[in-house]
Amino acid sequence: MTSNRLPVIFFGHGSPMNAIESNDYSKSWKEIGESLPKPKAVLCISAHWVSYGLEVTGMEKPRTIHDFLGFPEELSEFQYPAPGSIELANQVVEQLRPHSVHLDTRWGLDHGSWVVLHWLFPKADVPVVQLSVDHSLSFEEHYHLGRMLRDFRDENILVIGSGNLVHNLSMASWDVKAYDWALKFDEKVKYWIMEGQHDPIIHYERQGSEAVFSVSSKEHYIPLLYVLGASYPEEKIAFFNEDVMAGSISMRGVRIG
Ligand code: ZN
Repeated sequence: MTSNRLPVIFFGHGSPMNAIESNDYSKSWKEIGESLPKPKAVLCISAHWVSYGLEVTGMEKPRTIHDFLGFPEELSEFQYPAPGSIELANQVVEQLRPHSVHLDTRWGLDHGSWVVLHWLFPKADVPVVQLSVDHSLSFEEHYHLGRMLRDFRDENILVIGSGNLVHNLSMASWDVKAYDWALKFDEKVKYWIMEGQHDPIIHYERQGSEAVFSVSSKEHYIPLLYVLGASYPEEKIAFFNEDVMAGSISMRGVRIG
């Protein structure tokens, strides 16, 4: 194993309010940032950029996208001015061949990225590139794309996925701490990750109704597949923010390596 290999990390981002609230979630993100060497760049797969066909952000200065409604002004005015990296975007295009990846100049950084990244790198001095979630691909294909990105970890590039392992907004409720099905599925996935069993995670639907309820919005689950795909067997695994909130949103994070 290379000692300079960076970990690969999945973040459960939850509410956009986590960008401006100092809470247990943001505290552990901050601690992770402090524990990491400064990477050359970040490659983020965010649940909030769903596309048809693969896209990668290829601009010098990605804008901060406020892709939500009904939050305080402080949040809609929040800026995360991290630079982009056209160099890394081009590397992603090369690395993912024969997949065809389009170099995008219109997206930017959505809240799946900046809610977490500004706690990790508050100076916004690490370039960030986003790779979209192509909804035409199968879960197996997403996992394999993660595998194709794995080499980046040895090139001082931090690969992260940002979503939520359990994410069912239509069932979310402030009257419920955590539904049984959400807790069960969250724990099952934790177990499989620890055991290095990625197949049941990729084919979650075989687990029946608790899995189907938990993965009601697939784009929030898919970034986890990239992170698992970019991991090596026998790496150190650590979980953080092991919590289900509002009944149906798991905040679980996973750091591998
Ligand atoms: Zn989200």
